[in-house]
Amino acid sequence: MRIPRLEVITGCMFAGKTRRLIEKTRSLEKAGKKVVVVKPVIDDRYNTTEIVSHDGMRQQTRTIPMEVQPIETIKGADALVVDEVQFFSKEVVDYLLATPTQQIIMGGLDLDWKGNPFGQMPRILCYADQVIKLHAVCAVCGASANRTSLVALGEAHRGQTIVGGPEKYEPRCTECFEDWMHNIGIGLFLSKE
Ligand code: ZN
Repeated sequence: MRIPRLEVITGCMFAGKTRRLIEKTRSLEKAGKKVVVVKPVIDDRYNTTEIVSHDGMRQQTRTIPMEVQPIETIKGADALVVDEVQFFSKEVVDYLLATPTQQIIMGGLDLDWKGNPFGQMPRILCYADQVIKLHAVCAVCGASANRTSLVALGEAHRGQTIVGGPEKYEPRCTECFEDWMHNIGIGLFLSKE
């Protein structure tokens, strides 16, 4: 399998991953490259034809199904940009990684709200030529945040894939995340999976 130059932008929620993807897309387009931006169909937080950063930066995109092999549309592109890649299945990730573009830039969460590796992200990070890990600001103490806690605990039964924004999630530093896990008895959730 040919793996083109792969860059991964990862970190917790509200760390600016999507903003970074949009900036990179625009730089490549300015340089005359044909860029295809995709995201999983599950991510409909803002709409289905754009990726939108939490601070409102927008970029046209195409959605692709999570479990079905896509994509005629990637053919002929110089660069492939993928947002929310943690939601894609192994099959789709393999397909995306094998895309014969000069460059692939993938963005997504490294950890889920239980602090466990998210989906295919561990494999993607292994294949990466370059990894950029971004941080947010801890909602509790203001330190550098590297975890995401689930505020909407009523949805905890849905597991790893709970799509949402600030109404459902909060960035936390490791210490405040561990306090939160302890307070909600997250060990009970973990033992059920
Ligand atoms: Zn903190």
